[in-house]
Amino acid sequence: MKDKNTVIERLKKANFKLTPQRMAIIETLIGNKTHPSADAIYDKIKKKFPMISYSTIYNTLRILIDLGELRELSIKENKINYDPNTEPHHHFLCEKCNRIIDIFQEINFKSEHINTHKIRNYEIYFYGICSDCLKRIK
Ligand SMILES: [Zn+2]
Ligand SMILES: [Zn+2]
Repeated sequence: MKDKNTVIERLKKANFKLTPQRMAIIETLIGNKTHPSADAIYDKIKKKFPMISYSTIYNTLRILIDLGELRELSIKENKINYDPNTEPHHHFLCEKCNRIIDIFQEINFKSEHINTHKIRNYEIYFYGICSDCLKRIK
């Protein structure tokens, strides 16, 4: 998800109705680096649209994922977080402040294969304590 107009154009082309609620969800996600959960998105949209249902949130997220405009992360146990940045990158979960932080550092494997399997794509989840929390501990 790079800019609103591109996402809107793609949704129109795919024949999805652009309701004000869907627009609000897209606006919440564009440029959002917090990797929100569906709950966090719901809480935010509810302030503007108190009648919004969970299924509207989930449907819209599903459409965006299917269009390749949104990525699902399963870095947290039993929870999905959403990332509008679909460029290849990895994620770090801070076990102190619970933030999901983008890692753009390239991690290179020596080979393009794992055992005899050819790798097309990979995504790494790191767990630990973020630099901000480390400073606070000292
Ligand atoms: Zn932290
Ligand atoms: Zn990310």
